Amino acid sequence: MNHEKLSKRLENVALHIPKGSILADIGSDHAYLPCYAVSNGLCDRAIAGEVVEGPYQSALKQVKGTGLEDLIEVRKGDGLEVLKPDEATCVTIAGMGGTLIASILENGKEKLGKVERLILQPNVGALNVRNWLIDNGWELIDEDILEEDGKIYEILIAKKGDPLQPYHENKQVGLMFGPFLLKKFSDTFIKKWQHEKAHFERIIEQLDASGRSGLETKRKEMEVQISFIEEVLKR
Ligand code: SAM
Repeated sequence: MNHEKLSKRLENVALHIPKGSILADIGSDHAYLPCYAVSNGLCDRAIAGEVVEGPYQSALKQVKGTGLEDLIEVRKGDGLEVLKPDEATCVTIAGMGGTLIASILENGKEKLGKVERLILQPNVGALNVRNWLIDNGWELIDEDILEEDGKIYEILIAKKGDPLQPYHENKQVGLMFGPFLLKKFSDTFIKKWQHEKAHFERIIEQLDASGRSGLETKRKEMEVQISFIEEVLKR
């Protein structure tokens, strides 16, 4: 497959695969990521895992079409269950919600024995992923944020290590914004949090307009989020 075909988002995920890895791409859909990684020498071999029949067939077709059947195995199954213990050295899970990514990792922990690198790209809910990493002894070593087709994506990269290492300054703020993203403070990061702030403000307006009682806790929650964002953005 050629370079142009991979989205900027998946290209960025691929950038973090350590050379020589045995890659497991879970929720691989068309298997674009493993095909790209193998054909560009970013990893030695790959497994594309997919739980749904349609995307599983697309992955098989893509791997066959690129002539990579000897190096990429497409397996059908739920999350990390497609892996043998100690098989993969790098796991990518991209393009899903953070809650689903965390539950895939949680349900398949025993398959992570040889895994040296996790590269996770939650579409939303990165906080859930950061929490799972902390609870399970994985240390964030980098984060990226990028915009493509009007959407903003975060990429979290982790290795086994000291999970609290990146959170020394302020754990709560680090969990919400991403400790590395906070430090990098890119234009895309600023844009993301300006959008989030506007989103919380709209929710408050809707709560107020509804005239219903008992919404004070929800309103307070939104206000707290907004003040965190304002604090971070005024830096
Ligand atoms: N990873 C690709 C990407 O980032 O472009 C595809 C993302 S696609 C939106 C999510 C894929 O994950 C779908 O093909 C879906 O069937 C698959 N998926 C969802 N839950 C899964 C699970 N528990 N195990 C394996 N695949 C799963």
